[in-house]
Amino acid sequence: MSTATSEAAVVDAVPKQLYIGGEWRDASGGGTLPVEDPATGETICEVADATPEDAKAALDAACAAQREWAATPPNQRSEILYRAFEALQERADELALLMTLEMGKAIKESKAEIAYAAEFFRWFSGEALRIDGYYKVAGNGASRVLVMRQPVGPCYFITPWNFPNAMGTRKIGPAVAAGCTMVVKPAQQTPLSMLALAKLLEECGLPPGVLNVITSKSSSAVSAPIISDPRLRKLSFTGSTEVGKKLIAQAADQVLNVSMELGGNAPFLIFEDADLDAAVEGAMLAKMRNIGEACTSANRFHVAEPVAEEFAQRLAERMGALKVGRGTDESVDIGPLIDEDQRSKVAELVDDAVAKGATKVIGGERLDGSGYFYAPTVLGDVPGDARVLREEIFGPVAPVKGFASEEEAVAAANDTEYGLVAYVYTRDIKRALRVCEALETGMIGLNQGIVSNAGAPFGGVKQSGIGREGGNEGIDEFLETKYVAINV
Ligand code: NAP
Repeated sequence: MSTATSEAAVVDAVPKQLYIGGEWRDASGGGTLPVEDPATGETICEVADATPEDAKAALDAACAAQREWAATPPNQRSEILYRAFEALQERADELALLMTLEMGKAIKESKAEIAYAAEFFRWFSGEALRIDGYYKVAGNGASRVLVMRQPVGPCYFITPWNFPNAMGTRKIGPAVAAGCTMVVKPAQQTPLSMLALAKLLEECGLPPGVLNVITSKSSSAVSAPIISDPRLRKLSFTGSTEVGKKLIAQAADQVLNVSMELGGNAPFLIFEDADLDAAVEGAMLAKMRNIGEACTSANRFHVAEPVAEEFAQRLAERMGALKVGRGTDESVDIGPLIDEDQRSKVAELVDDAVAKGATKVIGGERLDGSGYFYAPTVLGDVPGDARVLREEIFGPVAPVKGFASEEEAVAAANDTEYGLVAYVYTRDIKRALRVCEALETGMIGLNQGIVSNAGAPFGGVKQSGIGREGGNEGIDEFLETKYVAINV
């Protein structure tokens, strides 16, 4: 099978309709929205463009299924998730190709995302069996305390385009495990990965109505009726802080249970005593994973002055050696950015830094040809007032800035409204612990350039979010605690 044929085959295999109540159906208005390949700018296919009426129908289906689904034996929910874990692995090649086509990342990165996405199903297949409560004698000895955990109820999930599969399984996994039903709305740039995931879950035995998927080019128009519906019990969102704030405001009306995985501005700290080889290796991961389009992406490198220039040079050598191109080619390391808006934003941030005195160590320009390619870029001597240090870049750009002391490094790291993740490179155990305690983030990579792990609590503080996904904490977001006071 030629590459072109297999590309067409994976796209053909995905349903292009809405998935509501276990049925695939067209949008009620008959509309469609185009899905584009960011490496070529060409339209791959069209998918259904849901209307607010379709959104209501999806919530109706989730609500209708809730009671029966909550009563299913945990073994059954666990087994469905485990089957889905296996199925994701078995179909990793086709699902990765589909993701690369609609999102652009290199095929090896798409395969890594499918493996990561599958891990959430494995983890939560175990968690489904461990939902517990307790019974105890009250302090006065006279009454008893019974505490039970119950599914929170119908949920609404809104997911971003940057990890189109894993940001879905990280919410669907715990919801299925807890006994919640759900409506999912993927980003309009990457609907195919979510539609393929819904089909896979259907084939793995997930009952009709438990998962409903609506795709739409009017995200606010389809979300508003769901969020304002009194039957909805939970809103879980992954995306920008700007949109997250709007959704929290809408959710306030119903006092909805919310989980928010929002934007980041991750500092990457390298102390003078660090293993520089390891720091460069970690920097490549933390910066270049997903073309820099990750909430966990290292946004700014704060490096001890004596090693800052050497670090910038060595990082530039590695960045310059990356092969940029259409992600479907196995030898490509770095694909295109998601669209022209994103590329323009990256270019603007680089131009601003250079105008204010930063030096281009490597890169710093758009790449010619079709698609939204931007050269891997390292900026040296970045001044403190450059926007690139304050705003989420979401692209392959590494600004490097020197620091003179540990205090200065920590203060610079915390000088942001975001608090998702930080990276720290040092060989001094006392310093490592001191700095980890002082950093205002939900996660830290200590001598490690990647933190994502299904068995660990992912999430941020400050304006990077509310709640945690994955780890022992992940299932809690989908459970309510009920206490019964018992007179014996
Ligand atoms: P975005 O613009 O906030 O969009 C995210 C999702 O929200 C999309 O499905 C989008 O739909 C939808 N949306 C946009 N406006 C909406 C509205 N008014 N009402 C309801 N839904 C709305 O973010 P993005 O550009 O896709 O993703 C990048 C952002 O996500 C970055 O800031 C990144 O840091 C963050 N992120 C965070 C995490 C984390 O775990 N903390 C993980 C991944 C990404 P449309 O596609 O139709 O616009």
